[in-house]
Formats: sequence, C-alpha cells, structure tokens
Amino acid sequence: MDNDFKEVSENYTIAEAIREARRCLGCKVPGCKKGCPVSNDIPEWIAELAKGNFGNAMSIIHSRSNLPAVCGRVCAHERQCEGHCVLGKKGTHINIGKLERFVADFDSEAGLAHEAIPEKSRGRVAVIGSGPAGLTIAGDLSRQGFAVEIFEMEPEPGGVLMFGIPEYRLPKEVVRREIKKIENLGVTFHLNTTIGRDFTVDDLFAKGFDAIFIGTGTGKPKKLDIPGINHRGVRQAIWFLRRVSLFQNGNIDRKEVIVNEGDKVFVIGCGNTAIDAARTAVRMGAAEVTVVYHRTINDMKALRSEYDDAVAEGVKFLWNSSVKDITGAEGTRLSHIIIDTEGTARTVEADRLILAVGSAPAARIVSTTEGIEVDDKGYVLTRDTPYGMTTRPGVFAGGDVTNRPATVVHAMQDAKSVAEGIARYIDAVKLMESIK
Ligand code: SF4
Repeated sequence: MDNDFKEVSENYTIAEAIREARRCLGCKVPGCKKGCPVSNDIPEWIAELAKGNFGNAMSIIHSRSNLPAVCGRVCAHERQCEGHCVLGKKGTHINIGKLERFVADFDSEAGLAHEAIPEKSRGRVAVIGSGPAGLTIAGDLSRQGFAVEIFEMEPEPGGVLMFGIPEYRLPKEVVRREIKKIENLGVTFHLNTTIGRDFTVDDLFAKGFDAIFIGTGTGKPKKLDIPGINHRGVRQAIWFLRRVSLFQNGNIDRKEVIVNEGDKVFVIGCGNTAIDAARTAVRMGAAEVTVVYHRTINDMKALRSEYDDAVAEGVKFLWNSSVKDITGAEGTRLSHIIIDTEGTARTVEADRLILAVGSAPAARIVSTTEGIEVDDKGYVLTRDTPYGMTTRPGVFAGGDVTNRPATVVHAMQDAKSVAEGIARYIDAVKLMESIK
C-alpha cells in the first residue's frame, strides 16, 4: 500500500526546469502574478531559475510565500497563475506550479537560501493552530522581529497539510521540511496543547503575549439529515483522511481505518475533500468508489485536474443524485443505500459512506473566552482595521475559522494581511505604553 500513496506528480530534472523556465516571456504586465493570490513575483524568480540561480529564485519566492513546496503541489494553478499566463492562449502556459515545486525542493536538499533572522524585540505573539494560516503568520511575524509561539492540539504540526491532504498529493516529508524552515526562523512549537482545554486565551495573555492569533480552521463537520446517518459505517471525510494519515505515520492500526480491501464506498459531496477521500479509499483497497453529488459536473467545487485523476483511477461519479436512505449492517459495515438520481430511486449495495459536505469551526476557544463574537454559523467575526482583529482587542483570527478563504493559498493570502494587522496593533500599543 505504501507504493499506492507515492506522490502522483513527478518533479522536474534540473535540465527540464531550466528549459521550461526559458520559455517564459518575462511579460511586463504579467498575468501570472495577477492570478496569484499572494502576488508571487513569478517572472522575476523564473528569470533567475532560467539562469540557473536557484538560490536567488528561492529568496524571491520566500519574500511572498512561507510554504512554496506546498503551494507548488496543492495550489489551484489552473485557476490562478497558470490560468492567467499569456502563453495559455496557445495552450502552452508555463508550468509555474511544477517550477515552484522544483525550486523549493532543490533548496531543501541543497540548503541554498540563508536568511538573516532579526532579533525578536518587537513583541510576543501566540498562534493557535499550525495549518497554512498559522504557519504563514508565524513565518511573516518572526521575519519581522516578533517572538512567535505556536500552540497545536495534534502531536505534529501542519493542520490540514499534515492530516487533511493525502500523501499522494502532498507528501508528509514535504510538509515537515517546510515546517522545519519556519522553526529555523526561531518559531517555538507547543504540541499536544489544546487552547480552550489546557489553557485559555486569557491564560496566554497572562503569560505575557501581546497578541493572539486563532487559526484553528473548521474542525466540526456538517451532517446531513438522512435516515440511518448515525450508523458507524457513515464517517466524515476529514475523520477518514486523518485516520489514514495517523495510520501512515504509525500512530494507529490498519483496522482503525474504516475502508477495507474490496469495500464498496460512496462519497457524498464534490469538493476537493470529497475527491481526496474517494482517491484515498481507492488506495486503501476499495473495490468500488462512487461520488454522489446533488448538482452537475459544472457545479463541482473540485479542481478539474483532480476530477480527471480520480476518473483515471476508477472513481465513478453520479451527478444530480442524492442518498435518501441508509441501511446498516453489523459493526461499521453498511448493507445498502437508496440513491435518487433525477427522481428515480434505486437501492445499491454499500459498505461505507463518507460525508464531504463541508465543515464549520469548533466552539472550544470562543466558548472559553469572553468577548469574541461569532456569526450565526460559528465563524469568528473580524474587522478590517487592524485587519483580522476580532471583537476582543489583541485577539486576531484568520484562515477557515473566519469563513474568508477556501483554499490553502487563500488562507495564506488572508494570513499575510492579518500578520500586518497584528504587527501594526502591537507597535501601536507599545508606542502608547512608551508615552504614558
Ligand atoms: Fe511568464 Fe506566463 Fe507570467 Fe508571462 S504570464 S511572465 S509568460 S509565466
């Protein structure tokens, strides 16, 4: 099975990367940069890459992104940089994602980019959660002279990068390497530490932090109202993907991952998490995997390339369809489900049903902290000045917990603005204190 989870996409060789970089026109008004949520200086680093200056290319990428090896793999390039590349009109856009991955991986192996780390004298920031938003805040603020400590409930940092996105799309070793780089900037990690249980936000202020960032994502999956939904054969996609990650890291037993060899698996939903769950079920040995979606292929939130890969791996798709009834068997196995496709119902055999219909924030932190307001769905409310501050002064939030970003790179984009908001807030508070 280890082989099945090997990264699907191959990396460039040095010669291939330089050849690809040399195709770039170095546009004066580059569409690629416009299409990038974090405004990566794409033509500039591609020009350095074309000359073989890999270290310079890495430094330019790092000025806009803390997680290039991740972005190079999981960003929606087809909708972002590559989708806006002028050469795309001829169907030959530059493979920007693959080049970014090449530079980041080459740098990790060769250790080319060495950054001067400033003294941590501007203030102390606690970051709750170590997903893409938390890691971006930590990287940006420590580069600007803030002492940053990350509090993470899991035994390993990375959040959705470590426990949500499957190994074949984003190898855990890549995530670990990126996190190591952030640690090397002087960021401290406190693992197995749950804010709202082990400490509260008030405890963190009492420990002397000047600002606190909540980047805890959306850990509470949404449920559907279907008869039989509470059977143990029905599981959430994020629960299933986390289990597979824990199993691959050696933390749990194979039998604790519910999908077995030969299973008939159905997945409800058609976003990237649904596709991740379906393709992971294939890799766990399922005999048949079917995605059931209540709308059409044109409405799916998943990337077209992810869908194409899933089809190539044998995943089937039922459009304009929904599950109407679930009948369970013993233990964690189902017996059958009833699927309605455009008004016609039929009964099909099923062993497992995986739900991937979205998730909302858990209330652990806001329920143990005074003054942090949320909307009617539980998303944390924030303001524009200073950007990202909640209704409680000094407490900021970003990433999925605020319902703004939808993807890894959008969480990073949002977090970059929140990092600026935190820096401004702390500087202003310290200035006022110095005048007293
Ligand atoms: Fe190069 Fe395409 Fe960007 Fe132009 S739009 S600078 S060709 S990557």
